[in-house]
Amino acid sequence: MIWTRTSKLTRFRAIGLTEAGIRMNAVRTCVGCRQTGLRAELIRVIFSQGKLAFDQEKILPGRGSWLHPKLSCFALAVDRGSFARSFRARMNLENLATLKEQAEKMLDK
Ligand SMILES: [Zn+2]
Repeated sequence: MIWTRTSKLTRFRAIGLTEAGIRMNAVRTCVGCRQTGLRAELIRVIFSQGKLAFDQEKILPGRGSWLHPKLSCFALAVDRGSFARSFRARMNLENLATLKEQAEKMLDK
């Protein structure tokens, strides 16, 4: 189902959420498993100056991809080339390997 931004806001307002609440409860799609999850529960990955990085505070500018905080979702995203597709850029294998090292420390198995 596709919701436009406006209809989503209207829908959330209708159930009494504040703007901040709407932002935190917005639904994102995990680039790994393709299931949706709440923005607050997913981690953000950004692609900046040719490098992928986790945006732990979810505040860095630029296009972001969203992932469940699970290594399995990260691995799926890598296998499917989801980051390249999402950021419309070629991914550098070295960079992906660096991100994977971080992922192994940060994410649940
Ligand atoms: Zn996932």
